[in-house]
Amino acid sequence: MLDNSIFIQLNKLVYPIIFTDNSDTFIWGNKKFYSLHKDAFLTNDITLTDQIIIDKVVSAVNSVNKEYTISTNEKAITYQIIKSQIEIKSKKYNLLSFFNISKRIALATKLSEKQILFETLSENLPEGIVVHNKELIEYTNPAFEKLCGFNNKELMGKNIVDIFAKNEKLYILDFYKKLESKKIKRTTVETKILTKKNKEIWVKIKTKILEKEDKFYFLTIVTDISKEKSNHEKLSKLAYFDNLTGIYNRRKFDEILKIETIRVHRYKRKLSALFFDIDHFKNVNDTYGHDTGDEVLKKMSNIIQLHTRDTDYFARWGGEEFILLLPETNVLEANLMAEKIRKTIFSYDFNKVGNLTISIGVSELKEKERSSTFLKRLDKALYKAKNDGRNRTIVL
Ligand code: GH3
Ligand code: MG
Ligand code: MG
Repeated sequence: MLDNSIFIQLNKLVYPIIFTDNSDTFIWGNKKFYSLHKDAFLTNDITLTDQIIIDKVVSAVNSVNKEYTISTNEKAITYQIIKSQIEIKSKKYNLLSFFNISKRIALATKLSEKQILFETLSENLPEGIVVHNKELIEYTNPAFEKLCGFNNKELMGKNIVDIFAKNEKLYILDFYKKLESKKIKRTTVETKILTKKNKEIWVKIKTKILEKEDKFYFLTIVTDISKEKSNHEKLSKLAYFDNLTGIYNRRKFDEILKIETIRVHRYKRKLSALFFDIDHFKNVNDTYGHDTGDEVLKKMSNIIQLHTRDTDYFARWGGEEFILLLPETNVLEANLMAEKIRKTIFSYDFNKVGNLTISIGVSELKEKERSSTFLKRLDKALYKAKNDGRNRTIVL
């Protein structure tokens, strides 16, 4: 009738289905259907009991409510059966799908139709839902309970801010206050909740105010965005940091230099930079291999980093070239720092590689100067240091 892959898919369905032909004779049922009737079907040989069950199902389909109740030892489960006709190779079949409506029936006695709809929807949504008044939680759905690890009992009556991470509480309180007083239109924010295991999880919350007669509620939809956040962090790491040394890459440095240049011009501050290049580095690779060369680059960046302040920006410019940006530093101070670093490297023993030297170009950003002109002067200074015999600092 159908090819095998479709049966495999149908067997994965979480609700029972069966096929009958147009004279209501059973043809095939999926696994869920068999597990539903496992007491009746002692074997998979459908012929033993099939017609009894099919007759029941068929009469349910034809009844007013299209409801089919099956009783197990513990409870009765009621299904609503949806019948659709399908045509395969010009033959007509009936597809009967069973939807569990037991919960809906149980609620129906207590709740209005709209409430039932809300409950049914929210119970099945992948997003977390929290309904709370100005302070306390009044409803949570299973998806939210799963996300935060607390069960429904533990959440009921809890203060809404208590579901959020410590550093987020004030921000969230302010968000709800502003929403309530209609001071903001924005109803979506990114924040963190605190789970039962004391883990902070990034979430996006979208809040809607529900006002009914004298009652006032917030309905907050909580979406887990921790995966996106960690992917984003991984991507920014790739985008901003050099793989080998872990310091800033050139792209990030360019960004920083632009911002720093604006700041310096606006507030009339000082900004200097050191541009380093390892002398005869090619020899290291040629003599000891590329891996040793890599180790030297890492070591070199560690040594230079030891001389930097928290406010300095250190980046790998490319290959064996590094750049260090020094805010609030004039050219004299920068020159002193360059000499200190040069001497430290000069006297450092790089294991089997032995001693290495670096050449350094030093410069200070001039009034109204563009960052590109500043970089050109640094490059020139470095070039001169190389030409003058290497292992030296040139200020331009
Ligand atoms: P100079 O004193 O003129 O700077 O000489 P040099 O040999 O250092 O200069 P050159 O620019 O000719 O060579 C730089 C070398 O750096 C070439 C390349 O093999 C090496 N290099 C660039 N990036 C890396 C890297 O990531 N790892 C390793 N191991 N070597 C690299
Ligand atoms: Mg070079
Ligand atoms: Mg070099």
